[in-house]
Amino acid sequence: MKRICLLGASGSIGTQALDVMKKHPVDFSLVGFSVGNRVEKVSEIINEFSPKFVCVKKENKELVKQYPNVTFYFGDEGLNELIKACDCDMVVNALVGFVGLKPSIVALENNKVLALANKETLVTGGELINKLLKDGHGKLVPIDSEHAALSKCLLIQSDNVDKLVITASGGAFRKLSREQLESVTPEDALKHPTWSMGNKITIDSASMVNKTFEIIEAYYLFGYKYEQIELMFNYESFVHSLVKYNDGSYRLDEGKPDMRVPIKYAMFEGACEYDIVYIQHIEDYKKSSLYDFDYERFPIVNLAKRVIDEKGLLGAAFNAANEEAVYAFLDKKIKFTDIEKIIYFCVDNVSNIQNPSYEEIKKCDVSIRETVHKIVKGEVNL
Ligand code: NDP
Ligand code: MG
Repeated sequence: MKRICLLGASGSIGTQALDVMKKHPVDFSLVGFSVGNRVEKVSEIINEFSPKFVCVKKENKELVKQYPNVTFYFGDEGLNELIKACDCDMVVNALVGFVGLKPSIVALENNKVLALANKETLVTGGELINKLLKDGHGKLVPIDSEHAALSKCLLIQSDNVDKLVITASGGAFRKLSREQLESVTPEDALKHPTWSMGNKITIDSASMVNKTFEIIEAYYLFGYKYEQIELMFNYESFVHSLVKYNDGSYRLDEGKPDMRVPIKYAMFEGACEYDIVYIQHIEDYKKSSLYDFDYERFPIVNLAKRVIDEKGLLGAAFNAANEEAVYAFLDKKIKFTDIEKIIYFCVDNVSNIQNPSYEEIKKCDVSIRETVHKIVKGEVNL
C-alpha cells in the first residue's frame, strides 16, 4: 500500500487523483493532503479517507477544533511541514503555479517519489530538480498527459530516438487569427475544446503558454536536446504524444482525453497496464488526424528555446509574468494579447544569473510579479 500526500486536493487534478485512489483502495492510502481556499473540501476528504495531516492556505481555528485528531498546517511553509510530517511514500503535486516549486524540492530532498502535475516546478526550477535527482534524492514521475505518454513510449524503447513529438489541441482560439485575439474575453478563453481543467491552465492552453511549458518540461524530464522536441496538432486530444525513432517509425499513446489515465500511470509509477501503438508509417495512421504545428500563428512556443538555452532565471521570469498576466486577464484588467506582451517584456528585462538557488528564484518571482502589477496599473509602459 502506497502512502500518498496529495497537494492541491481540491483542484481539477487533485479531485481526479482522489478518484484514482477511490478506485484502487488496496494500492493507495491518503496520509496527508492540502487545499488552498476551498476549505469546504476538507471535511469531505477527511470523512472519506481519514488522513491525519492536512494543510490549508489560511489559518482556520474551526477546522482545528472540529478535528482534534488531525494535525493542521497553514500557508506556504505548511505545505513543506506537511510533506515532512505525514510519512508518505509519494507526494502528488497538483498545486497550480510557482507555489508548487518549493514542495517539489522538499519532496525530493526527503527522498519521496514525486508525481508531478505542477508544470511550473520544472519551468522555474528544472535545474534544481534535476540536480536533486542526479544526487540520488527521490524519484520524479510526470502526470502531464503528454509527458506520461512519452514516458510510456520511452519505457518500451528508449534507444534510437529521433524526436519527441508533443501533441497540441490548439486550445480555445486555434481557429482565430492573431488580429481576432484582440477582443476575446475570459469566458471565451475558458472554453477548452477537449479537456476540462483548472482556470489557469485553460488560459495557458488558449495562449499556447501551456505547450511552451510542456517543451521545457520534456527537456528537463527526458534529457533530449531542444532540437529533438517538436509539436504537432491533434485537434481531438486523442493522441497524447509520440516518440519518433531513427528508422522513421513511431510509438504513441492514444485514448480519450481523461486525466485519470496519466494520473493512475504516475501513481503506479508505470506498474499498471497500458497500451502503446507502434506505427511503421505515420501516413497510415488514420485513427486521428495529426497536423504540422503552426509556429507563426503561435510564436510564444519559440520562447521555450530561449528558456532552455539561457537557463538561470528565465523560466522563473516567464512563469511569474504569465501567472500575474493570466490573473489580470481573468479579472478583465488587461486584454488577452497583453499576456504575451507582458511575458516578452519581463523575460527581456530580467537580469539573468546561472545556477540560481531556490531563494534567488523566489526573489526573481516576487520582483517580476511587482513589475506586472505596475504594468497592469499603467505605471510601467511596455
Ligand atoms: P486547479 O486550479 O484546479 O487546482 C489547483 C490546486 O492548487 C487547488 O487545490 C488549489 O486550492 C491549490 N492552490 C492554488 N494556489 C495555492 C496556494 N497559494 N497555496 C496552496 N494551495 C494552492 O488546477 P489544476 O488541477 O488544473 O492544475 C494543477 C497543476 O497541474 C497545474 O500546474 C497545471 O498546469 C497542471 N496540469 C493540469 C491539468 C488538468 O487537466 N487540470 C493537466 C496537466 C497538467 P483551492 O482551489 O482550494 O484554492
Ligand atoms: Mg498537457
